Amino acid sequence: MVSEQPKDTSEARSGRRTFFRWMTLTGAGLAALLSRRLAREARAGALRGVHSALPEVPGNELIRMQQDLDRALARPMESRRWVMLVDTRKCSGCQACVIACRAENVTGPEGSYRRVPEALAGSFPFVANIFMPTNCVQCDDPPCARAVPAGMIRKRADGIVEFDHVRLRGQYAQAVVEACPYRAVHVDEGKRFTDGTPEVQPYEKRSFTILGQTWNRNEGATLQGAARKCHFCVDLVEAATLPACVSTCIGGAMYFGDAADPSSLASEMMRTHRMMRVHQELGIQPRVYYVEEKLLQVRQYSCATCH
Ligand code: SF4
Ligand code: SF4
Repeated sequence: MVSEQPKDTSEARSGRRTFFRWMTLTGAGLAALLSRRLAREARAGALRGVHSALPEVPGNELIRMQQDLDRALARPMESRRWVMLVDTRKCSGCQACVIACRAENVTGPEGSYRRVPEALAGSFPFVANIFMPTNCVQCDDPPCARAVPAGMIRKRADGIVEFDHVRLRGQYAQAVVEACPYRAVHVDEGKRFTDGTPEVQPYEKRSFTILGQTWNRNEGATLQGAARKCHFCVDLVEAATLPACVSTCIGGAMYFGDAADPSSLASEMMRTHRMMRVHQELGIQPRVYYVEEKLLQVRQYSCATCH
């Protein structure tokens, strides 16, 4: 018995073309995703070896946090619980972390992922002065996500709150800015620090990576008009490198690590210090903790001033 062959009509040819185009695009997309992932894992693998081989340096918290990262990255993403800790007693308000953050994430004059506001409490001679470094706190129940249609803001398994930079524009970008109780979101207007000078500098035009995707602030894959905020430098973290603000902090006030690992410095800090979280009363479970000792004296001033 001979089976009937389908006729090669123009409709069938068009269907085949669509199918092959879809296959090509899907294949290209998958290949790009895979190659990004492999590149990240290769970098992480290479750097992981370097950190594990570092000698023990008692008291060197950066090396310890770096080695904590190696252990966390050896486990599946779902089992990691990234947290950031701030010891305001060690913060001098130098703003080096803000500059490092700007350089890493290429933010313009209209906003920054990170701020270091200053609060004063008391009166002379009993004056307390405090600096409260702040950025997106990666809320476990983020109010920003409730302000826009489902899917535009996603909570990853490791705790990072991920923005869809393609869709979070216009009214949605504005809604997110208004919904965040930490003032951690800004809309990128594409301005540059060197606008109006003889030459826009290359560092303002360069491409950069957010959650595995390449962006710029000029054209094509541009973030102009998009809502932006801190992601704990998770692209650096997944390449086994600490967030820019942590590795840059001259006072050693910034900590980062995996709270799911009881032997990490972050976990140890949380066990051995009283910790507070800003806007804990909202029940949104922020992932940034502050060592509370000094804050106890000035909390009523610092929270109101900075957030
Ligand atoms: S700090 Fe603001 S932007 Fe970050 S997750 Fe919470 S509500 Fe969203
Ligand atoms: S770099 Fe460190 S000491 Fe300086 S402002 Fe930032 S957190 Fe404070």
